[in-house]
Order: sequence, then C-alpha cells, then structure tokens
Amino acid sequence: PPTAPAGLLQHLNPEQYAAVTLPPRHVLVLAGAGSGKTRVLTTRIAWLIQTGQVGPGGVMAVTFTNKAAKEMLTRLSAMLPIPVRGMWIGTFHGLCNRFLRAHWKLAGLPQSFQILDSQDQLSAVKRVIKAMNLDEERFVPKQVTWFIAGCKEDGQRPKDVEVRDEHTRKLIEVYQAYEDQCQREGVVDFGELMLRTYELMRDNAALREHYNRRFRHILVDEFQDTNKLQYAWLKMFAGPESAVMAVGDDDQSIYAFRGAQVGNMADFEREFRVDQVIKLERNYRSFGNILDAANALISHNTRRLGKNLHTEAGPGEPVRVYESNSDFAEAQWLIEEAQQLHRDGVARSETAVLYRSNAQSRVLESALFNAGIPYRVYGGLRFFERAEIKHALAYLRLIENPNDDTSFLRVVNFPTRGIGARTIEQLQDAARASGRSLHQSVGAVAGKGGANLAAFVALVDAMREATQGLTLREIIEHVIEASGLADFYRTEKEGRERLENLDELVNAAEAFVTQEGFGKDAVALPVDEQAGAIAEGSPPAVAAVDLAPDAETGEIVSPLAAFLTHAALEAGDNQAQAGQDALQLMTVHAAKGLEFDVVFITGLEEGLFPHENSLSDADGLEEERRLMYVAITRARKRLYLSHSQTRMLHGQTRYNVKSRFFDELPESALKWITPRHQGFGSGFERDYRAAWQRGSGLGGIVGAGRQPDTPPAWAAPKATTSEGQALRAGQGVFHNKFGEGVILTIEGSGADARAQINFGRHGMKWLALSVAKLTPVES
Ligand code: ATP
Ligand code: MG
Repeated sequence: PPTAPAGLLQHLNPEQYAAVTLPPRHVLVLAGAGSGKTRVLTTRIAWLIQTGQVGPGGVMAVTFTNKAAKEMLTRLSAMLPIPVRGMWIGTFHGLCNRFLRAHWKLAGLPQSFQILDSQDQLSAVKRVIKAMNLDEERFVPKQVTWFIAGCKEDGQRPKDVEVRDEHTRKLIEVYQAYEDQCQREGVVDFGELMLRTYELMRDNAALREHYNRRFRHILVDEFQDTNKLQYAWLKMFAGPESAVMAVGDDDQSIYAFRGAQVGNMADFEREFRVDQVIKLERNYRSFGNILDAANALISHNTRRLGKNLHTEAGPGEPVRVYESNSDFAEAQWLIEEAQQLHRDGVARSETAVLYRSNAQSRVLESALFNAGIPYRVYGGLRFFERAEIKHALAYLRLIENPNDDTSFLRVVNFPTRGIGARTIEQLQDAARASGRSLHQSVGAVAGKGGANLAAFVALVDAMREATQGLTLREIIEHVIEASGLADFYRTEKEGRERLENLDELVNAAEAFVTQEGFGKDAVALPVDEQAGAIAEGSPPAVAAVDLAPDAETGEIVSPLAAFLTHAALEAGDNQAQAGQDALQLMTVHAAKGLEFDVVFITGLEEGLFPHENSLSDADGLEEERRLMYVAITRARKRLYLSHSQTRMLHGQTRYNVKSRFFDELPESALKWITPRHQGFGSGFERDYRAAWQRGSGLGGIVGAGRQPDTPPAWAAPKATTSEGQALRAGQGVFHNKFGEGVILTIEGSGADARAQINFGRHGMKWLALSVAKLTPVES
C-alpha cells in the first residue's frame, strides 16, 4: 500500500491493518464489540487522506448518534494535520440537514426551513387531526405520528401507501394534510430530512452524478442498525467509482423495533458484490470478566452470524452486582460509589450510568442534582424540550421564519396578550381557506382579537428588526426580554428555575458559538475543492458547521439559524455544562459505540430490562439481549449491575424481580456486593416471578420472605433521629405531617444534620434532624 506517515498504522493488528489499507473497493467489516471497528474506519479515513488518495472533501462517513460522530471527529483530528470540522462526517440526519441547506431550492424548501423535533411533530399532527375534525380516540396522535414516520422510513409518500381499509385511507389523508401543513410552514421532521434528501438524489441526475463523483469513499459505522431508507439513501450517494466500507456487528443490532434491518448486511454483500468480509476477533476494550459476561449472555441468542471475541487483557475485576430495596436507594448507592471512584481518581466523564428507559433517569437526576454532582444526560428529558426553552426558541424561530405556524401557535398568546381560543380558531380557518400561514392571515381577523394578533405580529417584526447585526448571545437576550417571557417568569411563583434555564439557553448559545467556530474567521474555512463542478444547484462548500454556506450567495447561514438547527437536531446533547467533568447518563441505545472506564447498568429487573413490551415474543427478547450485550461491552475496567426490589415508574410503585439476564451470566465473573437476603432466594423469588408474569397483584407476596435490610458497609448510619435511632440514606421514615417518605441524602452531623426526604405526594423536603420528629419504618 502507499506509504503512510509513520505511526498512523502502528497500533493495528494484522486484520485491522488489512482493512485499513484495502485498495478502494467495497468491504464489510463484521466484528464484535470493542474489536476496533470504529478505529479501523477512522484510521482508514486518515490513511486515505494522508496518502493522498482522496481529499477531505471526497470522504463521507456516517454514524448514528451525535456523540459518536463527535468522537469520530475527535479521533480523526488527532490523526490528521488538517481541520476536520468541514468534512462530511456526521449522523444521517446531520448530513441530510447539511445537504438540504445547500440545495434548499431544488428540494422545494424555504431557505430558512426549520426542523421539528418529536414534540413539535406530535403537536403538528394534533393540529391536523383537529383541523380534519377526526376523533382523537380513533386517530390517536402518537399512533398517527408513528404511522407517518413509518411510511417515510419505507420511502412512501401518501400516494404510495397501500389503501388496505377505510381506516388506512383516512390515515393517508392525515398524512397528506400533515405534509401540506409542513410544507406551508416551511418545517421538516426527522424522517423528512432523510426522505427529502433521498428523493432529491434519486430525481436529480446532475446532482446525483456530482455527489457520486465527489464521494470516492463512503464509510458507515454501526451498519447493522440502518433501516431500509438509510440503505437506499446510501445507494444513492455511492457512485460507480465510490468505495463503500460498512462496519457492523449483528449482535449489536438494537433498532429492529424501528425498522432497522440486519438483512441490510446480507443485501450489501450481494448488491455491492463484496468479495471480502473482514472479521476482527480480539477485543481491546474490556477486561476478561466483562467480556466473559458479554459472551455468555449473547450466546443465549439463537439467530447469530457467529463471531468469536477474546481478550488478552487478563480477567480484571469481577463484575459487581448490587441489589437495593428501592430506586432511591439504588441512586444513593450509585452516587456514593461514583463519588468514591472520583476520589480514587476516576474522571466523572469516564463513568457512565446506563438505563433501559428514559423514565428511569428522573430519580437518578434528582439524586445527583441534590448531591451537587455534575452530570450530563444524553437524550432523554432534554434541555431543549423544556417549556420555557421551547417558548424562547419559538420566538427565535419566528424571527427566522414567520410562517412557522407551530412556533406561532406556541407563543401567540404566551405570555398572555388577550388572544383567545376563538380568535385563534378564526385565524386558523382563514389560513386554511387561503392556504397561507397564520402569520400571513392575521389581517383576515377583525375586531379586538384581530388587533391583538396584529400587535403580536408587530412585536415579532420589531424583534427581528432590533436583532439585526447582533451576536447570537445578544439576540437571545433581547428576545427573552422583548417577548415578555422574562417578565412573565419574574412574577410567576415557580419562575425562578425557569429564568435560570433561560440563562442556560444564553450560555448554551455562547458555548455553541465558541465550539462551532462561528467567530469572524468562520467564512475563511476551507471550501470544497470541487465547488462549481456542476451547473444546476451548485454543490455545497464546506463550512465550519454542519451547515453549508448558501449555494447561491455563498453566505454562511446565520448563527441563529445554525443554533436553531442544533437545538432541534442535537437536543440535550450539548448543554451549557459542556466541558465540565460530568457523570454521563444515557439510555443503552444512546451508548452504542461509546466506551467508559466504569459503567453502571441500572434497573436490571424483569419488565424493565428485558422490557415488558418485548417479553411476548422471542424476537423481542433477543433484541433486549443484544441491548444488554451493548450495555455490558461499553465498560473498559469496571462494571456494575444493579437492580431494585421496588421502583416508582409512571407514578406507581412496582415490585420487581431481578432480570433473567443475571441467570445468563457466568457466576465466576460476578461478585455480589449486597449480601443476598435469606429467604429472598429461590422459592420466594419463583413466586414473585410467577406473580409478575401473571400480571396479578403482588401485595400478598411482598411482605412474605422479606428480611430487614442489613445496611451494607458503605451505608453505615450517618445520622440519628431526634430520638437517637440510626438513619441512613435509602431508609423509609414516617413524619407526623408529611407521612411516609424515603431519605435521599443526609448532610452534616450532630445538631446540624439534615436530610432530604422524598415524601411522595408531599414532595421533597429538607428537614433538620434534631427538630423533625421522624420514625424509621420498614421500607
Ligand atoms: P463497538 O462495537 O462497541 O462500536 P468497535 O469495534 O468499534 O466497538 P473501537 O471503539 O474501535 O471498537 O475500539 C475499542 C477500543 O479498543 C478503543 O479504545 C480502541 O482505541 C481500542 N483498540 C482498537 N484496536 C486496537 C489495537 N490494535 N491496539 C490497541 N487498542 C486498540
Ligand atoms: Mg464502534
């Protein structure tokens, strides 16, 4: 192979080396977790560029999560002497966004099109259902949204969907009306980003030829999770001269429920005439016990392509298993453990807390928040989805695009300005009748309501006027004040936190500007070497961010527009806390491809993980097992598995048995760090499990074999009640006024000792232990 700079290929084993230096042709790398697939992919990009085989503009690399894409850019920038930001490396959605920004005209979109996140999408669908006078019981907005997303993932427009019955016929009408509405408002949802890009590539030969010639190398990480549309999309971008490298692991396919197709791997082999499948068998990530656990677990799946994975790293520490009696206690334990690790010198950012469902993060988050431990949540209850943030963003979006009806409706009467439901209905009727946006239809409403609407439009216009030429920070500060949001929250009882969040928004914008290099020299960044190559809809130049400069004017998209895109696409991934050493919280899905020194997998309970929705069929269970395999294989050095006997979920206390996955792990690799309760073993547990599976009430069984908890060593009493009884975090207590609660945190000692207690209905309270009359109860 062409000579590479010294050192680039040094840390590769022979199979990896072969994959990295393969002559340009299609190849599939099929290998288990931690075997270096992503390393091969990034090193190949670096090698291709460093040996002069392709310019940075000739490479496209796709992955699934924002965090993984960032990771790839980071790894790459360490290997390349050139700036990597401008390269086409990102998520499917990120790349589609970039493509459509460059070719908005050809794609039939307004230049300042906005992206709907899933919340916006749902409310947009609701509006359509309402406008069509359909019954929300029969046309459940969530289900309709899924239907539309599913159609788009299958590449189907309303006219392509097969009419099976009357209900589908109506659904298709809703789909059509939703599309019209989005088009009118100049907004696109996530599925639309993909489909619109795919269709434009399919239908515009000149554009397709351009990109086909341009992308000489296309590399796809996590290929096992591509869905039908993504695969078709890929085939559009890959030209006769392109070489595609697909990298994946069938054991880590975790999106089948959303239409991902492991079958794409077989199709890829066949359709791209792949004559070489590269396998990697050595795991470089984890110690032996962790890998043993992963291997043993996944061996319970039947449909596998079959791969071996070994490590030469030695067994390392055993996998620690912890059982708690409540999710609060679990969180408390986790915090103590994480704090100890931190004191021992483990960076917080090297500690990940994984969970199966987003709902689980709430308890963890509030415990972390109260303990003052910095943390970041990826995905989940996201910063940009909070009401006050969405209000502010809506004003900002209206500045960019006054026809964005979703944003218009969100804030037209927020803060209140005397615009009632009647007025809005009139406005919507007028807009519908004329096929125009709400903004454009304001003149059609008469009387007081009309005047108030006009005042609202004037307010937004004035904000647009006043923010011309301001920095992003100044724009946001101005809008928060001028919109009346700040004043509104200043007078509201619970407004303080919301005001703080709005400040965070300003900080997030600031961080965004710094990170994305939106400074003065942004325009000077390298521009695509092939610019001007085709006449029609000239190709995008390479900009500092995922947003290319406007194809016609060459103008870089405004920082505001870029920030709004970022808010929709990356959601909470980039909060203002970025850069701080913080504990990493995320769902297992979001952890794909990542690795950490320490991993906690929490909530390992039947019904939760494996998830109850999956238990009815074998496919579902196998997917859960792959998910667990992904979770385990994120850990480099230390792995914790925890489960809890009770858990508050969706407002109910659930009594849980530990996950069946524990039975599938080799006992030799595990260490139980909670004493296993006598009587909580086989017989009792069997009853428990049976009761769970019957779905019947568990009340009768609960008290039965239960032993009082022996506090583990770390949870030695830290404080006492005013009567001198020992108290510890995780313990149940009774208070005369607030009733039963659970201690979350204890701070201070002696007369100063105070505890934070969750009293359920009465909420969280801080109580001075020397004063409060608390009685310990069996929780
Ligand atoms: P996953 O399936 O989880 O995405 P992967 O196959 O992509 O995993 P990588 O993330 O590329 O694996 O690699 C796992 C770890 O092993 C990384 O820290 C990587 O730097 C390291 N690694 C890979 N190959 C080697 C090697 N030849 N020598 C030393 N370390 C390696
Ligand atoms: Mg990887």
